[in-house]
Amino acid sequence: GTERATVRLDGVGHSYSGVTALHDVDLTVPQGSVIGVVGANGAGKSTLGRILHGTLPPTLGRRTAADGLRSALVPEGRALFKTLSLRENLEVAAYAADIKGAELRARLAQTVEWLPPRLRERMGVPAAGLSGGEQQILAIARALMARPDLIIVDEPALGLSPAMVDEVYARLGRLAHEGLTVVLLEQSLGRAAAACHEVVVLHEGGIAVRGEPADPVFLDRAEQAYFDGQ
Ligand code: ATP
Repeated sequence: GTERATVRLDGVGHSYSGVTALHDVDLTVPQGSVIGVVGANGAGKSTLGRILHGTLPPTLGRRTAADGLRSALVPEGRALFKTLSLRENLEVAAYAADIKGAELRARLAQTVEWLPPRLRERMGVPAAGLSGGEQQILAIARALMARPDLIIVDEPALGLSPAMVDEVYARLGRLAHEGLTVVLLEQSLGRAAAACHEVVVLHEGGIAVRGEPADPVFLDRAEQAYFDGQ
């Protein structure tokens, strides 16, 4: 197609001190797509996410990114500043991206607009005082401060109640609807299938099966591949 790729991986692999975590990954992330990378613990999701983000160089193969691409990674565990307020967490992200003054105020306003109303009213509360789901939403909001073209979210549902998972996913869905390119790293095939245009199942560092969740044949194969990995 004529779709522009944000990032493309060709034959990508990664080893940590000689131990292979990822191998033979070919993956294109078209602009505006929502791609789910699904796999059990240790399948290689975080490694793949960091390579897509560009912060971890592959030890094999090639990563190609669109010119001037801004990618943001929301890491597993969120890595918030727990004693800083919600607003301060967003400001720190802006400073880190060298955004100041009027630009900072504009981005802050835009990001706050995306927050659920309940959080908008709690901008002065320390991150530690927020629920797990609220912290996850804040971690995503912080990534949005740099106005990324691509956002990679590592296990956003981890440790959250089902209601909170729904809320986090609703917020991610809104970003996708607005045209942001999203890569979701997920342990749950069901959640990824519900939220993504394309799903890739990782098994022991390699892509076991890939396809569109709308295709029932793919879903059967994905379940099979996923349960083999459990
Ligand atoms: P999890 O859900 O547990 O984070 P994952 O699917 O994200 O799993 P990765 O974190 O990418 O998987 O890990 C893939 C493999 O690489 C695992 O065997 C893991 O132990 C190993 N690994 C990950 N990071 C490192 C590291 N910094 N040093 C050595 N080995 C690592």
